[in-house]
Amino acid sequence: MLYHDVLIVGGGLSGLRAAVGLCEKYDVGLVSKVHPIRSHSIAAQGGINAALANNPDARDDTPEKHTFDTVKGGDYLGDQDAVEIMCKEAPVIVYEMEHWGCPFSRFPDNTIAQRPFGGAGYPRTCFSADITGHVLLNTLYERSVYKDVKVYSEHVVLALVTDGNLCHGAIVLDQIKGEIIPVAAKATVFATGGYGRVYLYSTNALSNTGSGIGIPFRAGVPVKDMEFVQFHPTSLIGTNILMTEACRGEGGYLLNNKGERFMERYAAKAMELAPRDIVSRSIQTEIEEGRGFEHELGKYVQLDLRHLGAQKIMERLPGIRRICLDFIGIDPIYEPIPIMPSQHYSMGGIDTNEKSETVVKGFYAAGECACVSVHGANRLGGNSLLDTIVFGKLASISVDQYLQSDGFKPDEKLLMSKKAEVEHKIKQLNSGGSQRPFKILDELRLTMSNLAGIFRTKDELQQALSKIIELKERYKKVNVSSSKIYMNYELIGAWELESMLDVGHIIVLGALLREESRGAHSRRDFPMRRDAEWLKHTVATIGKDGEPNISYKGVTITKYEPMERKY
Ligand SMILES: Cc1cc2nc3c(=O)[nH]c(=O)nc-3n(C[C@H](O)[C@H](O)[C@H](O)COP(=O)(O)OP(=O)(O)OC[C@H]3O[C@@H](n4cnc5c(N)ncnc54)[C@H](O)[C@@H]3O)c2cc1C
Repeated sequence: MLYHDVLIVGGGLSGLRAAVGLCEKYDVGLVSKVHPIRSHSIAAQGGINAALANNPDARDDTPEKHTFDTVKGGDYLGDQDAVEIMCKEAPVIVYEMEHWGCPFSRFPDNTIAQRPFGGAGYPRTCFSADITGHVLLNTLYERSVYKDVKVYSEHVVLALVTDGNLCHGAIVLDQIKGEIIPVAAKATVFATGGYGRVYLYSTNALSNTGSGIGIPFRAGVPVKDMEFVQFHPTSLIGTNILMTEACRGEGGYLLNNKGERFMERYAAKAMELAPRDIVSRSIQTEIEEGRGFEHELGKYVQLDLRHLGAQKIMERLPGIRRICLDFIGIDPIYEPIPIMPSQHYSMGGIDTNEKSETVVKGFYAAGECACVSVHGANRLGGNSLLDTIVFGKLASISVDQYLQSDGFKPDEKLLMSKKAEVEHKIKQLNSGGSQRPFKILDELRLTMSNLAGIFRTKDELQQALSKIIELKERYKKVNVSSSKIYMNYELIGAWELESMLDVGHIIVLGALLREESRGAHSRRDFPMRRDAEWLKHTVATIGKDGEPNISYKGVTITKYEPMERKY
């Protein structure tokens, strides 16, 4: 058994920020399935929001204005007290990252450069060309090395250990040694990222399975607002690699097959810089109404950067140009980029408050796996990198307070009995069942992309629900070729599949029950937002039968009464 004061699961921005905040005072162990700098945070391109007012066009920007844009962008489902905290913290953490060495792009006066992003009243997205996640993650990783954070890479958390009220640690699979290890901890922080790979078409890393949401769910921790799934408007056709919103922030156009900047029809003022939910629906509508382009890899519209000129593209979007050249042989300096929307971000997640606390004492969550909620029904671009660092930091403060006031000792017997349970379950995965895990996963992904996508209907969601229930039945007979633990990706995939089925189930059930359209949840059969009945968070908890039960809870409104969203 391993012992740490604090166990952090996840080596992305939120996990590393929590670790850096705690490691001077406590013995911290950070467990990650992939090496920290292979976490999905590394792929973030466009930037991180903070009302620094550096841009000459944004001298009167303030954290209050950032708060309002975020609340409105989230279609009024965000908890406004939490949004306010995040936006106030934004300048603090951006300057902290700068002081820790993060190489942000600069304006000529040497202040941190800021570009316009969707749904924002001001250009307030700080960036480093189109590799913002890369520089932020490397800065935090270097800091964690400097501070001697103990990192366990290639270690997968399989189960959380709680007694219902208190968290005692987790059960971890060491892929390299091929061992199952209980890790006892006084406090555990999940920072496991999103669940994008539950969908077939996603911009997310393959490691984004959402097991960090399914595992606490099955340990009795509620999850919130899971039906709100973000589809990014612009992913490269055939690959679903993200073409950052910064392409439009820098002035890129979206064009249909008639050469029209069609956003004029949907958001005449904001045009290409309307929030993502609106732009994705607009693209989908253009395609459905026959104004898209046809390609063997699917239907698409164009993202046109040509008028920006070679110099701006090379300076501000060099990574985008490289990706286009390498993956589809197109140079955006001379040709428009073929794009389509695809799954991108998880607004929902583990139900936490603004202190990153969950209902289980000693168990915290931060970053994309958590739902505070600050993004409400639709996240604004640039607000997720912000969320990860702010709530990673706030989680470290909460854990510090908890450890100061509590002389709690993890229960070793409980950890050992959970270990035995996990080992038994692993053996069962190799006991001659008839179902192959990859087959079930393929069907789940197709179901989610086809039936729980940008536009939803009761009929399609019901079909999706029946399919997922069938897949969960089949999962009971799932079989892997070997139950050996050493570097057995098939086994880990089969283990994580259980979480992916739960995640899909909760998304679809929440979406079926929510009879309105709000933010990224768009029902063709209920096209209006319906505040009287639906201005509330969806909460899913596990029932005695292992199935999700849905209940609802109120949204915190402080200053901003819900209004119609116009852009
Ligand atoms: C292509 C792309 C571009 C983006 N660009 C931007 C942008 O410009 N601006 C913005 O604000 N947002 C952006 N986002 C969103 C943002 O990058 C992510 O929401 C954020 O980085 C997530 O960080 P995280 O710390 O929560 O998790 P991640 O960085 O995803 O890290 C998750 C960690 O958890 C670990 N893990 C997961 N499950 C387990 C397990 N069971 N056991 C052990 N370890 C586990 C993984 O190993 C990993 O280290 C982008 C997202 C994508 C996909």
